[in-house]
Amino acid sequence: MAAEAYEFKSEAQQLLDLMIHSIYSNKEIFLRELVSNASDALDKLRFERLTDESLRTDAALKIRVWADAEARTLTVEDNGIGMSRDEVIQNLGTIAHSGTKQFASKLKAAQDSDNAERLIGQFGVGFYSSFMVADEVTVVTRKAGEEGATRWHSAGGGTFDIDTAEREGHGTTVTLHLRPVDEENGLVDFTAEWSLRGIIKKYNDFVTYPVELRTERTELERDDEGKPIEGAEPNTVVEWTVVNSQKAIWTRDPKDVSEEEYAEFYKHIAHDWEAPFETIALKAEGLFEYRALLFIPQRAPFDLFYRDQKYGLQLYVNKVLIEERNEDLVPDWLRFVKGVVDSPDLSLNVSREMLQQDRRVKAIRKKVVRKVLDTLETLLKDDREKYLKFWGQFGRVLKEGATDRDFQAKVEPLLFFQSSTQDELTTLGEYVERMKPGQDAIFYITGESLDAVKSSPHLEAFAAKGYEVLYLTDPIDEIMVGHVTEFGDFPLKSVGKGEVELGTDEEKKAAEEAREQKQAEHKDLLEKLGNLLADHVKEVRLSSRLTTSAVCLVGGEHDLSPGLEKMLRQANQATPDTKRILELNGDHPLMGKLKALYAADGDDPKLGDYAKLLYGQALIAEGAAPPEPAEFARLVAGLMV
Ligand code: ADP
Repeated sequence: MAAEAYEFKSEAQQLLDLMIHSIYSNKEIFLRELVSNASDALDKLRFERLTDESLRTDAALKIRVWADAEARTLTVEDNGIGMSRDEVIQNLGTIAHSGTKQFASKLKAAQDSDNAERLIGQFGVGFYSSFMVADEVTVVTRKAGEEGATRWHSAGGGTFDIDTAEREGHGTTVTLHLRPVDEENGLVDFTAEWSLRGIIKKYNDFVTYPVELRTERTELERDDEGKPIEGAEPNTVVEWTVVNSQKAIWTRDPKDVSEEEYAEFYKHIAHDWEAPFETIALKAEGLFEYRALLFIPQRAPFDLFYRDQKYGLQLYVNKVLIEERNEDLVPDWLRFVKGVVDSPDLSLNVSREMLQQDRRVKAIRKKVVRKVLDTLETLLKDDREKYLKFWGQFGRVLKEGATDRDFQAKVEPLLFFQSSTQDELTTLGEYVERMKPGQDAIFYITGESLDAVKSSPHLEAFAAKGYEVLYLTDPIDEIMVGHVTEFGDFPLKSVGKGEVELGTDEEKKAAEEAREQKQAEHKDLLEKLGNLLADHVKEVRLSSRLTTSAVCLVGGEHDLSPGLEKMLRQANQATPDTKRILELNGDHPLMGKLKALYAADGDDPKLGDYAKLLYGQALIAEGAAPPEPAEFARLVAGLMV
């Protein structure tokens, strides 16, 4: 095939521009990215070889790095899986991640700020970082099992060329033409051996393949006795020195691993540019052995709530990577956890399906979850402020864990909520400690936003009693309270459901009696209103929860909440159309008016209008719209004139 010119996909070009003009001082990380890619390519080949004998050769898998100071080039080479022509175009012409559109728009918005750096980290754009230090990049690659090779070349200016090429054996060679040295801007001499050695050691020490650096030494020719010959031309001796220790970091004793080493490893597997928030090492011995190294990132990725978000831990069998993302090792509500699990006891040739069924995988998962939750528990105990940082990023995901029956009890104490009486976030345990004498439940209100719930009429009776109410405004909360029905000795109760009786037993009894009496007094009027609104509500009754507002809507004790109903409907699930109950405030002056109207003429058409107004008001107070907004507006205007 002939040479062809291609344009970068726009988001890739944006990224490239960002790299070319990067003011990021830590430019040396481009080498980490290239070595990291090479290591991934070797992992992939090693994995393919497990099942494809034709790919097996005697050649040792390795990475080689060399520089040419005169030509100002730096080369990173691997004999890994390589890429086909199509793969090169795809992988090095676009950003190989889902959600690129969002990325592009976010990047635009963040172009001038530090956030750009962070965003780049989140998307894992390793290869393009070469352009921070190079003005031209050439890649020659040959896919294992294929004959021809492909050459990719770009000077970063919007296009890249693709051509056929020659390459002995499979693998990839990336050659950078380095920009001039400019130490002030972080461009040190990347052809200097000591500098390359330092960078590789610093960032890629854990790479499980040898990273060999080309070194040169001059030597005088020697005579038979091994003595240097005077006056002879010195010879240049080329040597390849392995720079990295190659020790899988998770096999090392955590005592001997520095925080920086863990951080570099984390960045490698998570494609993150920031150090992890928390590192968790795990080791199981005995009948069934495994080790795990887990990380909690500092920041939630942009796609944390995407439906098709990929997650999982890397699974190794005896240091051979067999799966990049194994979803059986962590539940989806810990999908932000990154890391590796290595067990010498699992079989190398095991299929996905078999792994899923494997008892041992299940056991590891359980342990992983426990360990993460234990870590969070300790963090909360020792450093609440730091924990709340975590909560700010991943709290909404952790709440999903409260619906996991196996871990619910461990997750519950880790949850934080906003509440009606506290400025700061609170736990359920702290709520219980603040409960008023006689209070027999943990009360919450659900809604779409903090503003909507804060001013809800449902809160009135609770506020009057000084009872605290938790504000649940995340979509997941509706589902969570379906599972977390009690905490400690107390049930969780919605302020928008059933009757509310607050206070001591005597107070409750007195309130109930008073209400029953009033209810009897207004019986006919309430029934009349109920009939008029029969299409919308199942009952009209006097309220136990209103002190200032005139009306509100409440659900039956066991009804679905409107929020949950809406969610189910959005998910296209068959949902019953639950009617709610309209509650009127018996002490509101409006009651007197209504009663007088009804007493004068039980069939006065005004009663129908008033019923609609009452119902509409109740909906508006929840942030919803009356069923016929235009009519509602007309009725209100009518009242005003
Ligand atoms: P990332 O490594 O985060 O996926 P990169 O931009 O660094 O992103 O690389 C894009 C893709 O190009 C990789 O996912 C991989 O498929 C391919 N690639 C990069 N370097 C190599 C290499 N040395 N060998 C084989 N494939 C590579």
